Amino acid sequence: MPLRQKRMGMPMNDQLSKYLEGAGRVAVAGHTRPDGDCVGSCLALYAYLKENYPKLTVDVYLENVPDAYCVLEDSRIVITDGRDAQPYDVFFALDASDKERLAGAVKYFDKAKKTVCIDHHISNPGYGDENVVYPKASSTCEVLATLMDLDNISVKVAEALYVGIICDTGCFKHSNTGEQTMNIAGKLMRLGVDFSRLTDEVFYQKTYTQNQLLGRCLLESFLMFSGKCIISVADRKVMDFYKAKSSDLEGVIDQMRVTKGVEVAVLLTEIGELSYKVSMRSNTFVDVAKIAGHFGGGGHIRAAGCSMSGTKYDVINNLTRLIEEQLKNHD
Ligand code: 5GP
Ligand code: MN
Repeated sequence: MPLRQKRMGMPMNDQLSKYLEGAGRVAVAGHTRPDGDCVGSCLALYAYLKENYPKLTVDVYLENVPDAYCVLEDSRIVITDGRDAQPYDVFFALDASDKERLAGAVKYFDKAKKTVCIDHHISNPGYGDENVVYPKASSTCEVLATLMDLDNISVKVAEALYVGIICDTGCFKHSNTGEQTMNIAGKLMRLGVDFSRLTDEVFYQKTYTQNQLLGRCLLESFLMFSGKCIISVADRKVMDFYKAKSSDLEGVIDQMRVTKGVEVAVLLTEIGELSYKVSMRSNTFVDVAKIAGHFGGGGHIRAAGCSMSGTKYDVINNLTRLIEEQLKNHD
């Protein structure tokens, strides 16, 4: 009995079947602090495998899914605990630029018989047995869509892919948006994705707490280098005051980035004692992936991040030294 299944009398025609020969148990996992592309790609692959390869057992490992992405069906099936499962036949790593970013799921990756890495980060070294890494793609969802038979996907799969694409492209406005992105999004629309509702619910709608935090971060931000760099710090005190999670800061850096005259935006979130998560965005020439890479992180030229330790002053000093260098070289 061939593994490749038929739906609605149509033969499946996807690029995923070659990874699934002889497989019975499959794991799907994304990166730590999952964002929309990470959740969207994991849930899209999960639903696609369940629909088209019904004999497979598929487990999805993610850290807590932020509320905004719970509009996606299946968000409840995600496994967040550290259970000890038998080795998987195939492990799909999605949107994770390096193995360590898989956080708690690394142990399943290490034991899996075959690992497949699907991603769009330029810094991805190709750590899977099989690697489908397209740095020019807007999102992991875009890469994943190229591996699926898009004529045979359900609205559920299409919506998960659409959410990932809008999250990583800022609703088709970031420079990573390309012709292929729009072609795929068009196909997803044709399949019946409720794009207006999804865009509002996933991208624009904010809780009161999120709006208050946005205001607070903007109020406390400061400019450096003649207004070319904007920095803000969400410290523990502020986060505790608003009873906020770090995912409540989603979108704050994007508002900072569109400050007139700004080339680089930096948002620090205090995640532990003397420990900060750094988010960076640039507009036209600063390579923030290079700066994040210097501190053990990664990402894309225009959007990158890392974790750093020290006081907020240490962190800001270390980052701005490298930012200043790039700003100077451009003058
Ligand atoms: P964000 O600022 O939204 O958290 O992340 C922006 C981009 O940088 C994302 O593509 C994300 O994958 C990447 N990124 C953020 N933090 C880290 C990190 O600590 N390590 C690596 N390798 N990439 C990161
Ligand atoms: Mn992504």
